[in-house]
Amino acid sequence: MIHTENSFMATKIARSVWLALSLFPALAMASHWSYEGEGAPDHWGSLDPDFSLCQKGMNQSPIDIDNTLKAHVVPLNTHYIDGPSLILNNGHTIQATLPETTQDNVLIDGVPYRLQQFHFHAPSENTLHGKHYDLEMHLVHKNAAGEIAVVAVMFKTGAANAELEKLWQALPDHADASQPLTAAIDINKLLPKDKTYYRFSGSLTTPPCSEGIAWLVLKHPLTLSSEQLNKFKQVMHHDNNRPVQPLHGRVVVE
Ligand SMILES: [Zn+2]
Repeated sequence: MIHTENSFMATKIARSVWLALSLFPALAMASHWSYEGEGAPDHWGSLDPDFSLCQKGMNQSPIDIDNTLKAHVVPLNTHYIDGPSLILNNGHTIQATLPETTQDNVLIDGVPYRLQQFHFHAPSENTLHGKHYDLEMHLVHKNAAGEIAVVAVMFKTGAANAELEKLWQALPDHADASQPLTAAIDINKLLPKDKTYYRFSGSLTTPPCSEGIAWLVLKHPLTLSSEQLNKFKQVMHHDNNRPVQPLHGRVVVE
């Protein structure tokens, strides 16, 4: 049930829209980007001058993770206590939004990046040696300077995922619908135990394709059932992955 008439909800929606617009300012414009037809990823760069990086950028995401440089990368240092308070279908993805007051964060090079929201892509956007996973979750964080870090978790079909199920139970089935999350969701259960990762510099994978984003792709995938995957796909109606982009000399470290 979608309680859009409720003023509490209206505030929540306004907050989530504000958050979406603050992370992706170009959404406020009328350019209709999508994953198919006229607005497909190959055309993003010409849809709007503000989207030019989608075409001209040299550090674009996603990428194929193939050759890596072995470094002494310490496992990911996450501090997730709060769960999301709202689930939103924005037509491009399903997004779970954290309350503005959350202290959930990840430490990168000693700097805390606060968790804003997490969302999903099927199939995965980043690939490993040319292969897609079935689903990829992006946890979007921002530091005090406004810089963004995305932690990515891969999923392959197998055993059902109980924590994902709590989200899927509240999945808004049409675009621009949202609802509050009543079930407590433990984000730690949406992460593998082994938090080793691949790290590289990249961009937002949606317009305006802004660069300078730290990408941390966890190596160990989780599972979801084929029913859970199908439920997501049915709600999205189409694949929502941007194709992989050239590295242009970038290095992936692990
Ligand atoms: Zn994403």
